Amino acid sequence: MKKSITFILTLLMFLSIYAQKTYLHCGKLMDTKSGKILTEMTVVVAGNKIINVKKGYISTKNTKDRIIDLKQKTVMPGLIDMHVHIEMQMSPSNYIEVYTLNEADIAFNSVKYAEVTLLAGFTTVRDLGGTGVNISLRNAINKGKIIGPRIFSSEKSLGTTGGHADPTNGSSRKLMGDPGPKEGVVNSVEDGRKAVRQRYKNGADLIKITSTGGVLSVAKNGQNPQFTIEEIKSITTTAKDYGMHVAAHAHGDEGMRRAILGGVKTIEHGTLMSEKTMELMIKHNVYLVPTITAGKEVSDKAKIKGFYPEIIVPKALEIGPKIQSTFAKAYKKGVGIAFGTDAGVYDHGKNGKEFGYMVEAGMPVMEAIQSATITGAKILKMNAEIGTIEVGKLADIIAVDDDPTKNIHTMENVTFVMKNGVIYKQ
Ligand SMILES: [Zn+2]
Repeated sequence: MKKSITFILTLLMFLSIYAQKTYLHCGKLMDTKSGKILTEMTVVVAGNKIINVKKGYISTKNTKDRIIDLKQKTVMPGLIDMHVHIEMQMSPSNYIEVYTLNEADIAFNSVKYAEVTLLAGFTTVRDLGGTGVNISLRNAINKGKIIGPRIFSSEKSLGTTGGHADPTNGSSRKLMGDPGPKEGVVNSVEDGRKAVRQRYKNGADLIKITSTGGVLSVAKNGQNPQFTIEEIKSITTTAKDYGMHVAAHAHGDEGMRRAILGGVKTIEHGTLMSEKTMELMIKHNVYLVPTITAGKEVSDKAKIKGFYPEIIVPKALEIGPKIQSTFAKAYKKGVGIAFGTDAGVYDHGKNGKEFGYMVEAGMPVMEAIQSATITGAKILKMNAEIGTIEVGKLADIIAVDDDPTKNIHTMENVTFVMKNGVIYKQ
């Protein structure tokens, strides 16, 4: 017995000495914890973990180790986008594709979007609604079968009949059917419980509700409240039983108010948020996920004739441009901000544009990057694993060519990506 323990210990020692380590020589290193930029640092990675962070450029004698020269770059933790739709990408054909694509088609598309997202520096994303293919995509990435970010998935989002997440909006009555909790349509407290439990069973990590109308659904109103507080409470309390948090899409103020009082963790978009609701956000520790990029991109596309069905155009032109100014007010007031872009509503991989819009609206660069690292990690209950570059954390590390505090648009061109200790872009 003693002999075999000694053997195992010797073997472990041997492996730790001879396991390949990666030494990242970082010209500038963004310390998202202290909010400072450190210079001339070395980050050492072994396996999928960060095992050392040291001042100066440390070298290695072990020929198996590799040294990566990032001396001309700014290095930071892998970015977190708290609002993407990794299964889809908006185009004029999307509205017909609901009836023409099979699950396998969606899956093949999503593989490409996942890769593009990771290579843009987003090592973790929260997927806020798809068909359910997003769960299989997450599993395939986790198993290393395909390349993509770490995904936290809400599976299919929840709405009410005719609401923003009703999958049969715009259908002929023949094709409309009567979707229920399984399909993500909830019309009672009981439906709310069933829908959440079904998503748990299907493998969701969290729940997404659409508490008001939305811009891109084939429906007239883009901002009316679409759930009662009781329905929302039944969803959030059931979700809590399964360790899941709830994200609420909301453009109109009343639906937002109900979502906050109903117990959601994040408000998505928040377009027409009143001062009073901002105070409520602070009081209940609810985060705003701004998605400014989506607002701008959608209103730009609405100017192209025929890009969207006609019913969507006035909503897009009205709601889209307002998101940035609401974000500015909410940030100034002290509402917690979690970075999120609604990628999929516009082209995947352009997520980094959001940083420029946040800074333009008055948020300091370091705070914008913290909202895309430590804040996202906290909401996902992953703050022990990701969000900072510290010993013991997962090696999710990216780099850009410029210093973002001097040129924020450098965030749109990430030139080094490591996730879980594996280099995907260099
Ligand atoms: Zn969305």
